[in-house]
Amino acid sequence: MSGVLVVAEHRQGEVRPITYELITAALKLKEDGAGPVAVLVVGGDDSVAGAVGPSGVDAVVTIDSPTAEFEPHLTERAVAAAIEARQPAVVLTGHTVDGFGFAPAVAAANDFGFASNIVAVEANDELTAKRGVYGDRLLAELSFERTPAVLMVRPGASQPADPGGEAPVESLDADLGQSPSEHLAYRSLREGDDEVDITQSEFLLSIGRGIGDEENVERFQELAEKLGATLTASRPLVDAGWLPPARQVGQSGRTVKPKVYLALGISGAIQHLAGIRDAETVIAVNTDPAAPIFDVADYGASLDVHDLAEALEARL
Ligand SMILES: Cc1cc2nc3c(=O)[nH]c(=O)nc-3n(C[C@H](O)[C@H](O)[C@H](O)COP(=O)(O)OP(=O)(O)OC[C@H]3O[C@@H](n4cnc5c(N)ncnc54)[C@H](O)[C@@H]3O)c2cc1C
Repeated sequence: MSGVLVVAEHRQGEVRPITYELITAALKLKEDGAGPVAVLVVGGDDSVAGAVGPSGVDAVVTIDSPTAEFEPHLTERAVAAAIEARQPAVVLTGHTVDGFGFAPAVAAANDFGFASNIVAVEANDELTAKRGVYGDRLLAELSFERTPAVLMVRPGASQPADPGGEAPVESLDADLGQSPSEHLAYRSLREGDDEVDITQSEFLLSIGRGIGDEENVERFQELAEKLGATLTASRPLVDAGWLPPARQVGQSGRTVKPKVYLALGISGAIQHLAGIRDAETVIAVNTDPAAPIFDVADYGASLDVHDLAEALEARL
């Protein structure tokens, strides 16, 4: 067994950004000597297959699907068929909602190696992968006895590769059978939120419980828009339904890598900090000078977030 198989994600004809991050991770494994890189596209039109074969990728493998949209059981069968055909040593999928739908099932059903929530992967002497443990305070290094190893990689763990279509496209015949479910429609939790991908924003204005009440969310949403930032939040605000899950930063939300992360009224719990490790500059505003967020902040002010909002509103 040798080589790397990347499972591409696409939705409504668009390649999902995680695909390009997985391609970067796969090309690094290839540099380490892991063998050729193939990108699997299940369903999707030619434009998807034509965009996931940048320089360095050796093949794009397509498998026709009876459904236009992602369906976890069909993808599970397709990934198993592609593994059977290509015998890769490593399979990379997103640690994403789609990935959860098929990757653990493929590994369990076929007795493959498996690990989720991977933040780094190497293939020097042997394949090793890293994942956060104890709320991301430590990184555990994993090795695998069984091959292939199916690794679910956390969004934001690698820089995305550029889209490209240099790699040859090969179609693989696989009988996926009928779809056991029917895709009805896409629904967003909040109008317009389909478009938000907070992992791609360079400036995040993030709010926590320190903003007080739900009615204050609008104030900080407007402030974010005026500053050219994307609004994100800590988990309690998402749990309370004030903001949709796509806006949550942290261990059970998204890992972000903005140039600037402005944390307003966020205490800095380790589960929150796990999501902002790759932020270039963290600016924290909190009334409590002992709040742990100040331990990781590059700049900080012990200040009421509403006083800050008022001062900024007066200037903008
Ligand atoms: C398994 C697990 C996974 C989790 N995943 C996540 C995750 O992904 N993301 C996440 O965020 N959390 C996560 N959490 C929850 C996490 O432990 C914290 O509870 C959460 O991050 C706290 O959110 P917060 O900072 O908004 O609220 P708090 O901890 O309540 O902090 C509010 C802060 O606001 C300050 N403040 C109050 N009033 C003002 C004011 N007027 N002006 C300025 N500052 C003010 C306070 O001093 C305080 O520091 C997880 C927990 C568990 C157990």
